[in-house]
Amino acid sequence: MSRTKKFLILDLILVLAVAGTYFGFKFLKNDEPDAYEVADNIKSGAEDLKEIESAAEEELKSKELDEWYLILVNPDNAMPEGMEVETASTESGHEVDARVKEPLEEMLAACREAGYSPQIISAFRTRETQQYLYDTTANKNDTAKPGHSEHECGLAIDIIDSSSAGWADPLIDEQEELPAQIWLMENCQDYGFILRYPKDKEDITQIIYEPWHYRYVGKEHATKIMESGVCLEEYIEELKGE
Ligand SMILES: [Zn+2]
Repeated sequence: MSRTKKFLILDLILVLAVAGTYFGFKFLKNDEPDAYEVADNIKSGAEDLKEIESAAEEELKSKELDEWYLILVNPDNAMPEGMEVETASTESGHEVDARVKEPLEEMLAACREAGYSPQIISAFRTRETQQYLYDTTANKNDTAKPGHSEHECGLAIDIIDSSSAGWADPLIDEQEELPAQIWLMENCQDYGFILRYPKDKEDITQIIYEPWHYRYVGKEHATKIMESGVCLEEYIEELKGE
């Protein structure tokens, strides 16, 4: 091998060594974030978002509790003193909270369209009417004290199947077997109503089973309540996070 050739080979080795070191360093010293770093950032961003979301949800829940349609009126909770109810007259001439008239009439129309015959027999009551009912009832346990009836809020409606209108007292358990009532119990949530006093919740509601008393709470809450099978008292406790 000539001397020149030897140097050429040595040069080549040197060039390769330098280039190898340079590219090797470049590869190791990669400034772009690696996949783990990116994943971590995404994860912590998602966690922040989740926190914001759940805080917003909590705030929304507590705001919902103040909404007129979630008012809790029962033997332990009186309506607020001086609460005014703006009423509107329904098809039957009974008054209800004006905001409930439309969903109520929609529900009754749909029930009739399905072939049944619902009939309103009681809705909004003035304090005087409730007082009169309470004073004249034989059984004080069956009638709410004045100020403690949802009927005074205009949000409760007693509906029977018209085939029972001639019964001595249509407000009995047998109401649940009548076709209009069966339809209402199955579909009321689609119009924002719940069956307020279910059979197995008497200990909590402190009111007997009433398969005729419907209460407006709005579609979203009505759907959750009817699908989960809780009563309004339980649902509100849940919303409060208790
Ligand atoms: Zn009632």
